[in-house]
Amino acid sequence: MTRRAFLFAGAGATAVGWVWLRDRGAVNQVAAGPATTEAPTTTVPAPTTTAPPAPATTATTPTTPGPPPVAHIDVLCRDAWGAAAPAGDFREHEIEWMTVHHTARLLLENRDAPEAIRGHQRFHQLDRGWSDIAYHFIIDLEGNVYECRPVTAVGDTGTDYDPTGHFLVCCEGNFDEQPLPAAQHLALVNVLAWAAAEFDVAPDTIRGHRDWAATSCPGDNLYPLIDSGDLAGAVADSLAAGTVTMETVCGPPADERVAAIEA
Ligand SMILES: [Zn+2]
Repeated sequence: MTRRAFLFAGAGATAVGWVWLRDRGAVNQVAAGPATTEAPTTTVPAPTTTAPPAPATTATTPTTPGPPPVAHIDVLCRDAWGAAAPAGDFREHEIEWMTVHHTARLLLENRDAPEAIRGHQRFHQLDRGWSDIAYHFIIDLEGNVYECRPVTAVGDTGTDYDPTGHFLVCCEGNFDEQPLPAAQHLALVNVLAWAAAEFDVAPDTIRGHRDWAATSCPGDNLYPLIDSGDLAGAVADSLAAGTVTMETVCGPPADERVAAIEA
């Protein structure tokens, strides 16, 4: 990789990244309420035996970090898409569910996606009075993924459900009125697979916003993927195949990516 990536560059982005070495372990299926229990920490004793010195004739082989990931997500950091700073405090939570949204704003040209996202943040902060944009990640029509509020922070909603414990991924667009593009669909699978591994939550915790509250979100053209189990199945297949890695990209490389999107 030739470009330079900055991990954890944004405020509160501490839970983004570094997934590729994570052991997926037992799936946390606790269903409701603030999580007060933590997964038991298993301490693996370090090996005490010293390996014998390698024979002098052995050629040096590069160490590899394991099998390649099934997918990789570059997340465009907040600064790159022009996010305002958080306007207030966050409440922390532990992810137990994965909930899919749409923005309900018809998006005909993907070059308008970054401005749409800035608009959502302005609306959420200035009109709703929330600390930040409601979601953890937004995915545009071409599958670009945008860093929103920290995953460690409870999201916000204008509807009647408590988003505590919900990982909120939002597809930019109105999927009551437009089809879900293949690239956006694939990125949604990848982000959910990343989250499933990162937070030890099962694919069958994937729901649409309308499963929790009176709303059409995430739209009639997206919701059937959830209702049928197709999305959970694709996420489970991804988890079975390997690891989805995620990297938050910031600085000039990310600025250039956003400029290219908006061109
Ligand atoms: Zn929603």
